[in-house]
Parts: sequence; C-alpha cells; structure tokens
Amino acid sequence: MQICVIGAGYVGVVTGACLASTGNHITFIDIDQDKIDRLNNATAPIYEEGLQELLQENRKRISATDDYDAVADSDVVFICVGTPSRENGGIDLSYVKKAAEQVGKRLGERWQLVVVKSTVIPGTTMNIVKPLLEQASGKTAGSDFDVAMNPEFLREGIAIQDFMQPDRIVIGTTSQQARELLEKLYEPFDAPLYVTSPSTAEMVKYASNALLATKISYANEIGSLCKQHGIDTYQVMEAVGMDHRIASSFLRAGAGFGGSCFPKDVRALIATGGDAGQPMHLLRAVMQVNDMQPHRMLELLKKHVGDLKDKHIAVLGLAFKPGTDDIRESRSIPVIRTLLDQNAHVSAYDPMATDNMREVFPDICYTDSPEEALDDADGCLVMTDWPMFAELDFTGMAQPIVIDGRRVIPEEKRTDITYEGICW
Ligand code: NAD
Repeated sequence: MQICVIGAGYVGVVTGACLASTGNHITFIDIDQDKIDRLNNATAPIYEEGLQELLQENRKRISATDDYDAVADSDVVFICVGTPSRENGGIDLSYVKKAAEQVGKRLGERWQLVVVKSTVIPGTTMNIVKPLLEQASGKTAGSDFDVAMNPEFLREGIAIQDFMQPDRIVIGTTSQQARELLEKLYEPFDAPLYVTSPSTAEMVKYASNALLATKISYANEIGSLCKQHGIDTYQVMEAVGMDHRIASSFLRAGAGFGGSCFPKDVRALIATGGDAGQPMHLLRAVMQVNDMQPHRMLELLKKHVGDLKDKHIAVLGLAFKPGTDDIRESRSIPVIRTLLDQNAHVSAYDPMATDNMREVFPDICYTDSPEEALDDADGCLVMTDWPMFAELDFTGMAQPIVIDGRRVIPEEKRTDITYEGICW
C-alpha cells in the first residue's frame, strides 16, 4: 500500500518504519526539515533500538517531505502529530486540526482512508477531524473517503518490538471498507484486532494509560508506607503481582512516571471529566502522588547532605526511562530545577539524553561519563534505571551519598556508601 504518515515523531517514525518492513511504501510528511533530511538519509531522527536498522533496510520504500501533495496518491494517511497538554490539562488539538486541513485539501479522486493515531479525547475523530476533512476537501465521508481511529500503545525504548508484537490492535471505525483495509494492513503483525467505534477506541487509549499510571502511583504510595515500616515494597509487590487479577507490571516503586504520554493523558482525562461535570478524584490523586516523588528524593538527599547551597550534586539519568533519549516530563527536570533553586552545583550524565536536556538547562555541567559526574560530588540522585548505573563504584565521591529513585543499585554496591532508596 501507499501510506502517508503525517508527523515523523516517536509514533510516526516507528509506525512508518514498521509498515515499510511489511512491504508498504511510506512517505513521511513533517514540518521539521531536520527530521525530513535525516529520514531521506535513512537516519533515525530519534533514538529507538532497531529503528535505524529498519529505516536502512527499507530505505527504497521510504521518503520524507514537507509537501502534503503525496497525500493524493496514498491509500492510507496516518495522522501522528503531537497532542500536547494545554495549561488547563486539556489537549492542544491545533496540530491535529492543521494536519487534517492539509490532508483534506490534498485528498485524491479515489476512496482513501484517514486514520487518527495521535492520542485524542473521545469524539475528536468524528466531531473534529472528519468535518475538517470534509470542509477542506469538499468530499463526503462514508463515500469519497473514510476515517478511523487507531490508538498507538508503543512504549518508548521498546517501541519497535511493541509495534511488531502488540498485545492487541484497536481499530475504531464505522466503515466496513476501512475495517477491511486496516485488517489487511495489520495482518502481518499477527495480533488480535479489537474493532469498535472511533470514540471507544479513543477512550481505550486514555483508559489504558490512566490505569498504568494509577498502578505506578499506587505502588509509590504503598512503597512510602513500606519504607516507614522497614518492609521491602519490592517483595510486597512481587507477591501482590503474582495474583493474575492484578498482574506484576507497573508495580515498581520509584521516582514516578514521566514521558510524553502518562502525565499528559492523565491530565487530559481529568480535564475531560471536569468539562463533563464529573470530577476525576482518583486520577487527581494519581498525579499528586506522582508530583511528590521527585521532592521525596530531594528530602532524602537533604537528610544526609544538609543544606544544598554550594553542594555538588550528581544527577544520573536524564531520559524519562532507559532506552530512549526522550526527556519530556522526565522526573529529573523538577529535581534539577529544585537543586538549582537551592544553589547546588549540578553535574548530570545520561548515555542518550544529554543534548535534549541541554535545551532545558543550558547552564549545568554535563559529563561524558557517570564517573566524571560523581567526581567530587557531595551526593548523587539516580533518576533513570539505565543498567550501566548498577556497575558504578560510588566510593570515590567526596561524600558517597546515593539516593536511588529506581532501585538500580544492587545490594552489594550499597554496603560501603550511604544509600537510601526512595521507597525502600
Ligand atoms: P512527537 O512530538 O515526537 O512528534 C510529532 C511530530 O509531528 C513532530 O515531528 C512534528 O514536527 C510533527 N508535526 C507537527 N505538526 C505537523 C503538521 N502540521 N504536519 C506534519 N507534521 C507535523 O510526538 P509523539 O511522541 O510521536 O506523539 C504523537 C502522538 O502519539 C501524540 O498524540 C501522543 O500522545 C501519541 N502517542 C505517543 C506515544 C509515545 O510513546 N511517544 C505512544 C503512544 C501514543
């Protein structure tokens, strides 16, 4: 099939690269010339394991441009642009609207399918995207073209694997033709398809992310209580997770969730509930617990280091999780901000995300190795569970004080240092 992917970010590039690997022809359309140039050179614009290889192996079937004309020749158009948070927590649909208008203007003469893959609140595909496409094209949905909603569940860091072997593929459409086309497109991925209405598909995405975020905040709250009682919360959650009704994932206590999805999606559901006159009490608490976790790290640090003024603090891990260079809503951001507010000197290290963090904090010291960050440090905060941090020797620090936000430092490395886990 000829496929246009609008928005070559994490979701767009992974979607395009994976669909190219099953024989489809992909045109990425983006407004960022740097991404376009990279993709035309078969170079991944983001770090994601296996992505670079996929782009290179399928380079003959992949191109990128800022010109929406390619839409006219495509069978399917995926809208994968960002849906960031607005100040009130709701989502900013301006990128989706703009993309829909541009796509609408270029829809061709034959029937085509436009699929919304961006995370959007229920009703967006049918009540906003479809009318915009109709208005811009002068065509009628349901006969000249169709729309579908196909939420994406990939996890950054293992995005290719998640796209290739998903637990399920959710297709929201009222069109039989759209359903058949997407069934064919996704056939090589051998995953169960869940076909439903567009607004249900939109809600499935939010409900999934909000539940995962809830599990994390729940694990963090129980973890804090366990720490008070001298109980190992990881043992507690290991046993809790053995109950098949609960399942073991997302029960690891730590510094909290970040990234481009969980915080934004939970806030969007809270705002959507507010608009509907339905306060989302549980989800508000989920965010409160999450917002507290970075401050708990700093309280533990201060307990051992004292006043942070002029202290040299190493921050290990800037990406919001290992395996990615994405720093959006990373828990290290509020931590670094508070350290700077309290006049500490920050040395930061991350194997992938330094360049991205430099744009947020241009004036802190970024080191080329974790050892350099630890050199002369009065304290260390471990913010991301990069496996390499488990190998480090902290004994050479000026004061070997380590606050672990991810349970990454193994027991045997904790003995000669002052070690505290955030919830253990
Ligand atoms: P991103 O910010 O990485 O990428 C968005 C891309 O869209 C950028 O490259 C931007 O330049 C481009 N863009 C913006 N306006 C455009 C326009 N008018 N025309 C063409 N390109 C345009 O975003 P992302 O992380 O890939 O997320 C995209 C959507 O997918 C969001 O709704 C997000 O919530 C959802 N999602 C993200 C993830 C994830 O892990 N990142 C997972 C599932 C779903």
